Amino acid sequence: MKYLTLTGWHLLIITLASLMVMAHAASPTPPPNVIVILADDVGWGDLGCYGATKTKTPNLDVLAKGGMRFTDAHASAAVCTPTRYALLTGQYSWRRDAAGLNKGVANGDSPLLIPVGSTTLPGIMKKAGYRTAAIGKWHLGFGTSTPDYNKDLSPGPLEIGFDEFFGFPATNDRVPTVYVRDHRVLGLDPADPINYTYDAKTAAAGGMKKWAAGRDRIGFMSGGKAAWWKDETIADTFTHEVVGFIERNKQQPFFLYFAPHDVHPPIIPNPRFVGSTTLGKRADMLSELDWSVGEIMKTLERLGLTKNTLIIFSSDNGASPYNEKGHLPNGPWHGKKSQLWEGGHREPFIAHWPGHIAPGTTSDDLVCLVDLTATAAALVGENLASEAAPDSFNLLPAMLGNPKQIKRDHLIVMSGKGDLAIRQGQWKYIPDLALVDGWDAGPKKPNQPAKPALYDLSTDKGETKNLVLEKPQIAKRMAELLEKIKSAKSSRPAEP
Ligand code: CA
Repeated sequence: MKYLTLTGWHLLIITLASLMVMAHAASPTPPPNVIVILADDVGWGDLGCYGATKTKTPNLDVLAKGGMRFTDAHASAAVCTPTRYALLTGQYSWRRDAAGLNKGVANGDSPLLIPVGSTTLPGIMKKAGYRTAAIGKWHLGFGTSTPDYNKDLSPGPLEIGFDEFFGFPATNDRVPTVYVRDHRVLGLDPADPINYTYDAKTAAAGGMKKWAAGRDRIGFMSGGKAAWWKDETIADTFTHEVVGFIERNKQQPFFLYFAPHDVHPPIIPNPRFVGSTTLGKRADMLSELDWSVGEIMKTLERLGLTKNTLIIFSSDNGASPYNEKGHLPNGPWHGKKSQLWEGGHREPFIAHWPGHIAPGTTSDDLVCLVDLTATAAALVGENLASEAAPDSFNLLPAMLGNPKQIKRDHLIVMSGKGDLAIRQGQWKYIPDLALVDGWDAGPKKPNQPAKPALYDLSTDKGETKNLVLEKPQIAKRMAELLEKIKSAKSSRPAEP
């Protein structure tokens, strides 16, 4: 080397630099990891970054500060199961009326509600080479008939696109109160099999109680005691699983659907969060949720994955309580979980992807959780067949600030009883006010005429002034659009 002239050194340096540029070009940034966090029963107004002053959500606030916060984002339904179905398939749940997805939520005895073979969000990611996992609340059934929790729970999440599953069957207030890993209940003692039912007569005949894992539950259960979860440690258990999944897959692209049980009843935060707010245990459970999100952010940072990970945070339906010591869980919006009022389905929605989504930004675009399937397809360059994800709009242009995007012009939302309302621009049309209160709506009398309502959400967040008589043309247009989308098989626009 000592014989190299100055010109020779220059040549060597230039050659090395060229090789480094070529090496860089040959190994482009790997595809981004995608983490969807779908909280349970968290309302639009529950987070600090959405204006709450008495809850403590510092990690979610940091996430919003580093990304984009949507103000007009919605769950496709005002209750759990249909929203989760729509998120994972890109299809409005009410199109599947035969499966019961047009009303209510699933119990722990539901068969799998997503048909094996259908296009799904995890399936799209898996096909693109991602490792995929669902961790947390499932609530979309197992098997082809009433599942037997002492046997293989198949088909389930693994048959619709997830490589791994860890979670519980339905809700934290429903039997069976056990964790499932992939196809099997975790820690089940075969000598103490699980018996469960949602039918009181069957329960009485079989000695099953409306009580499991130390508390009253929806449904009846006996057995499986070694496998019962502890309510106080569900968040710790899920978070541990999530961190483990990220660590195991740090060197390959992954898709994680994390569905925390926070803040669904029973409201039982881990004791270390009790008293973290002055509001009560529901807000303390929000602190627990925020801690889980913080653990994910810390893990990504520790593994050097923050920059190449798209995180989306939202919730499956609005909050149940109207008012907690002055804190408004659904913010300025009227109504609550299960209802067609905005408070039932308008959700916090944060998208975080450093270097791609501009930090500290706010979008007022109309978006919905049903849009995540088409968004994922666009992210990995998958062309959706015309019948796939039929109600899903690609949100990437909205997230990345592309003004030439096709924006969602309309959205149909569903109540807990399966009734529908439609949004278009600032307008919201509800076909019958007798049904707007979801689970709280009284029985409708036979031959009682429908009483439609039209609200201008740009000036009337509380949905107090019915403009149906003042604006009959708009009401008629929206009623017709609702019927048109219902009778069509799809509402997704063709990509340009
Ligand atoms: Ca829920």
